[in-house]
Amino acid sequence: MSLERELRARFGAAVLEGAPAAYLTDFTRMPGRADAVVLPASAEQVAEVLAWCYERDVPIVPRGGGTGAAAGAVPDGGVVLALDRLDRVRSFEPELWRIHVEAGVATGRLKQLVRESGLMFAPDPGAPEQSQIGGNIATNAGGPHAFKYGVVADWVMGLEAVVPPGDVVSVGGAIRKDAAGYDLKRLLVGSEGTLGIVTAAWLKLLPTPEAVLPVAIFHRGTAEGCAALLRVVGSGILAAALDVLDAETLYCGRASFPGGVPADAGFVLLAEADGSRDEAERLQAELVEAGGEGAVGVYAPRDQGGIDAFWRWRSGLAFAVLARRGGVVAEDIVVPLDRVEEAMVATVEIGRRHGLVGLSFGHAGDGNLHSSFLVAPDDPDELRRVALAVEELFELTVSLGGSVSGEHGLGLLKRGTLARQWSPRAVQLHEEIKRLFDPKNLLNPGKKLARAAARDRTLVATRS
Ligand SMILES: Cc1cc2nc3c(=O)[nH]c(=O)nc-3n(C[C@H](O)[C@H](O)[C@H](O)COP(=O)(O)OP(=O)(O)OC[C@H]3O[C@@H](n4cnc5c(N)ncnc54)[C@H](O)[C@@H]3O)c2cc1C
Repeated sequence: MSLERELRARFGAAVLEGAPAAYLTDFTRMPGRADAVVLPASAEQVAEVLAWCYERDVPIVPRGGGTGAAAGAVPDGGVVLALDRLDRVRSFEPELWRIHVEAGVATGRLKQLVRESGLMFAPDPGAPEQSQIGGNIATNAGGPHAFKYGVVADWVMGLEAVVPPGDVVSVGGAIRKDAAGYDLKRLLVGSEGTLGIVTAAWLKLLPTPEAVLPVAIFHRGTAEGCAALLRVVGSGILAAALDVLDAETLYCGRASFPGGVPADAGFVLLAEADGSRDEAERLQAELVEAGGEGAVGVYAPRDQGGIDAFWRWRSGLAFAVLARRGGVVAEDIVVPLDRVEEAMVATVEIGRRHGLVGLSFGHAGDGNLHSSFLVAPDDPDELRRVALAVEELFELTVSLGGSVSGEHGLGLLKRGTLARQWSPRAVQLHEEIKRLFDPKNLLNPGKKLARAAARDRTLVATRS
């Protein structure tokens, strides 16, 4: 009997017909294959499915919204366990700034729900309509507002997860601090479905700021722009977000920028000021002052029309970059703040050496850059050169004291890269932790590996 039929005999309608293609890839569009796709309806059923698979040595790949950028949810046989049906809000207490949700709740739905009570869930990874809280937790996602508000791990008070061979465990809860045990909660956050399957989480919330005002400060080039970035940070102004775009990125998005991009601009610093209306206006003015020295243009709208136009432009930027050559390989390296300029300049040079357009944009206030190479997806030679360029980019990142991933995780794409930046003993501990949780190596096998042969990167040409 096929695995799918065996599973259906045990779990009935929770098993989908014929492993639909939508469950076999993610934002990378890397093709996967699975013997079955299961959508359990409760944490207990997740535990039963995991136990069933564990007994039979069947690999199991947890899946959230499938927006991941590291192919972490792409299966290579076995069972895909999708959390879509675990979508209940277990409790929401606005006056206590907390919510208890199941893993399959879409990030956008959670944000909307708490917003209606004047609160916010601060982390803001892209694709919120599709991504799930469980996926955000499993990747320890970031986003532009991580500069002020931190990453997902900073907002998780408690977790319920299913761990091999099929046990439901709870760590933390409706508590804002916990110094009792080893930090198992933090270990599960960012573990990319390799240690356990997150089924529910207690999340901290914050009151929504009254006003949020954007600022775009244009500079001639990367040197001037990065100097402005460091001036803003050094001035002590706490921006809500501090992003940058280099000349090539700006070129991709310049046609649609509200108010027009100054002709001599080759860099833009994008910041956001939030707080009470007065506070946000004061911070916005301070950002312009600190970042505006030597600038060739400033856009700092206070009217709703200007603010909305700015955000429409910002959210379409990744697609403008993608449109330029049809494909883009966008990494998510992170470097020390004072090495951002070097990383941005070197990305362009690496691209040039390989006959490619290299560019950088991203959350530079955190040193987190989407260093990217544009590519024509149907040109095999270009794809080969991109693979070489990415290898060089990772070498550079490590040499600058950085990390190969600031927010997307290692997944399948970056497996093996961790050993470049960690000592052998640290790598060994990483591997021992995996064995401790998952002795049969059945939970999302092949992902988040510290040591492995480099993956054929030509498969990822169209991810952005
Ligand atoms: C347009 C766009 C913009 C993006 N911007 C950002 C950004 O600014 N910052 C950022 O950090 N990321 C960003 N991402 C990447 C992605 O959205 C996030 O990583 C997101 O958190 C993934 O959630 P998901 O539910 O889609 O997870 P999936 O893609 O389904 O899975 C991702 C990983 O988590 C595991 N997983 C999923 N759910 C669970 C679970 N319940 N338990 C255990 N493991 C699980 C999977 O096995 C896989 O390894 C962006 C993606 C897109 C498409």
